[in-house]
Amino acid sequence: MKFQPKASHFINGEYVEDTNGAPIDVIYPATGEVIARLHSATPEIVNQALNSANAAQAEWAAMSGTERGRVLRRAADIMRERNRELSILETHDTGKPLQETLVADATSGADALEYFGGLTASLTGEHIPLGGGDFVYTIREALGVCVGIGAWNYPTQIACWKGAPALACGNTMVFKPSETTPLSALKVAEILIEAGAPKGVYNVVQGYGDVGASLVTDPRVAKVSLTGSVPTGRKVYAAAADGMKHVTMELGGKSPMIVFDDADIENAVSGAILGNFYSSGQVCSNGTRVFVQKGIKETFLNRLSERLATAKIGDPLDEEVNFGPMVSENQMNIALGYIKKGKAEGARLVFGGERIEGDGFYMQPTVFADVTDDMTIAREEIFGPVMSVLDFDTEEEVLARANDTEFGLAAGVFTNDLTRAHRIVAGFEAGTCYINTYNLAPVEAPFGGSKMSGVGRENSKLAINHFSEMKTVYVSMNDVEAPY
Ligand code: NDP
Repeated sequence: MKFQPKASHFINGEYVEDTNGAPIDVIYPATGEVIARLHSATPEIVNQALNSANAAQAEWAAMSGTERGRVLRRAADIMRERNRELSILETHDTGKPLQETLVADATSGADALEYFGGLTASLTGEHIPLGGGDFVYTIREALGVCVGIGAWNYPTQIACWKGAPALACGNTMVFKPSETTPLSALKVAEILIEAGAPKGVYNVVQGYGDVGASLVTDPRVAKVSLTGSVPTGRKVYAAAADGMKHVTMELGGKSPMIVFDDADIENAVSGAILGNFYSSGQVCSNGTRVFVQKGIKETFLNRLSERLATAKIGDPLDEEVNFGPMVSENQMNIALGYIKKGKAEGARLVFGGERIEGDGFYMQPTVFADVTDDMTIAREEIFGPVMSVLDFDTEEEVLARANDTEFGLAAGVFTNDLTRAHRIVAGFEAGTCYINTYNLAPVEAPFGGSKMSGVGRENSKLAINHFSEMKTVYVSMNDVEAPY
């Protein structure tokens, strides 16, 4: 098979197989062809991976920050050198167009490795003078073995966004990719070894949710970082709480994008396209509720439809193609089911709405107008290329409606009124906000959600606090005073 790895798992610096695990067929979403066959981790494999991460941790943490950083930065260089090869793999694993994977997957993973590799040498505690000569110093310590669990939309990126800060802080990692897209995390593990990471520092085990669940409850694990849906997040957070483990939860959303009538319409349409149809709409932070002020509604919809008609849908390996298939037949059917609901609940279909017949899991980019706040398509995360356009009159009204959701991942506003833009973002109940753009997530900036969309932040210096803890050391320079 075309993309068959040497074995399913990567443990202690080597590929490891155990064919007793349930089979996992890796399907190329553009054709339905099986491109690799892997096996889910058995309890023995999970045990081996955790032992390997556990055994490697102390040695890795004892290396100087400069040395650890060098490994991460070398890994970033290797990823960039192999960007095309890794992107072709990612395209086969996810179905995302090569035009996208060449610029948004291995490159984004490399950015994380480079950024955190650069920070590693400067990770320190602090010195706190207390008067009378006493002082406190703090020691920034690794948490231990961290578990990363990934979704299927950005497999390489997620493997690195979790792995890079974890390793920078001296932790080791066991990463479980989504069983839908299991291939690229193995490459990340291979590259880290090639870059000089000691064996066992970054391990990959494959599996379904049960493998993830067994990792989360293991007493050897100090921290769990999940990227997934809110229902999975609830389960994983609860399981981690039992062992008082640290967590980062990067969960789903139903984010609002507000377009005021003074906005640059072309930019707003571009933002709505990027925030709904990139990766065929399979992006957590998508602005799927597009609130458009009444006066510009028809202009906005017309321009959006004109531009969507020029999307190049087809073979994701063709670099001219900019809209690929859904990751799986299941995910396509979920999105098509929401389209049916949208029609049944009275939304007006203005673009797309159909499956594109063939072997692959293709569907049209879809836009509904006249959507109201109570409709299912305006309330639930679809995770597919389905945009809801809602009308509004006033700023006050739209902000309240934008926030009327259990989610709080992202939010955006398009307006040329500077003070209004800042007023709106101050009022947004969301972790990641955009003014006059949408869906950019540079590694330098914190990324994550509020409300049900998550706990903690990935990327930026903040991620360091989520992968390390402070030991406080009180130093007395005086006699000890006791009451008796
Ligand atoms: P899921 O929640 O279904 O799965 C996420 C991961 O968790 C998978 O690896 C899954 O394994 C695993 N898992 C499932 N059940 C358990 C369990 N009980 N214990 C431990 N692990 C478990 O999400 P999807 O893979 O379907 O991804 C889509 C979701 O991810 C969307 O909601 C999306 O918004 C969100 N997402 C959030 C992002 C963010 O940064 N906020 C970014 C990208 C996606 P398996 O797949 O094998 O079942």
